[in-house]
Amino acid sequence: MILFETIKETREYSVSKRKNGLSIGFIPTMGALHEGHLSLAIRARAENDIVICSIFVNPIQFNNPEDLKKYPRTLDQDLKMLELAGCDLVFLPSVDEMYPEEIHKDYDFGTLGGVMEGAFRPGHFNGVAIVVHKLFEITLPHRAYFGEKDYQQLAIVKELVKIENLPVEIIPCPISREQDGVAMSSRNARLTPEMRNAAPFIFHILKQARKMAQDHTAEQIEEFVKLKFSGHLLLDLEYFTIASGHDLQAVSGKISPGDMGFIAVFAGEIRLIDNIQLI
Ligand code: AMP
Repeated sequence: MILFETIKETREYSVSKRKNGLSIGFIPTMGALHEGHLSLAIRARAENDIVICSIFVNPIQFNNPEDLKKYPRTLDQDLKMLELAGCDLVFLPSVDEMYPEEIHKDYDFGTLGGVMEGAFRPGHFNGVAIVVHKLFEITLPHRAYFGEKDYQQLAIVKELVKIENLPVEIIPCPISREQDGVAMSSRNARLTPEMRNAAPFIFHILKQARKMAQDHTAEQIEEFVKLKFSGHLLLDLEYFTIASGHDLQAVSGKISPGDMGFIAVFAGEIRLIDNIQLI
């Protein structure tokens, strides 16, 4: 497995592979890898001649400086995992390599960008779009793999591809969960044992919401979820929203096929997100 820290080497590698008619699958990550990331790499391995993974903790997508400072970093273990998954190249740029000068780019994702994560994390998706666009220009993938765990991010990246007319196919991948239902996340490593014990409650409530969706309105389900979290000692609900999985706009009244429940919860200062298809 090749490790490159520079844009030049990585781009030249991709150009040469493309010249030889080889297909490239790409997985952008921020490291602290878990089985969720690996599922993307394994899928990319099965569908492409070349698999490239990037590990870059992208400072411009963090709206909270503490979150950036405390983001878990486990590079040695990450590289072992990627080698086992059959990754060909890992791109490990520094912040200076990616952003030698200040970036002035303001994407407009319309209504997609203004709700949920977009509303609660100002600037987050602009930072995501800037880095993803840049990484695509460096790694030149035919296909790029993104997890449905970050469902809104996936929608934003699809929109970015449309806006910028990028020749990349975006492949959505299902959420990997721990045995107790907790959505795998790099941030889970920061949970105290008590918080980790409490975390399955999030998916438990999402599954209850899915059951209710058969014969309750969006408003009733949202009220139920709020009530369940009110007074929880360790988990603080930031939002639970029922929205269409197609355009992410809030749903009212009866739940329709494709509607989803989206949740963000704080455990102390650690923010966890999850989602579920309701019908
Ligand atoms: P991150 O390193 O958190 O930026 O995530 C890199 C990619 O892995 C993103 O496309 C995420 O959506 C995806 N990912 C993270 N956690 C999971 C999970 N539990 N299941 C599936 N994909 C995931």
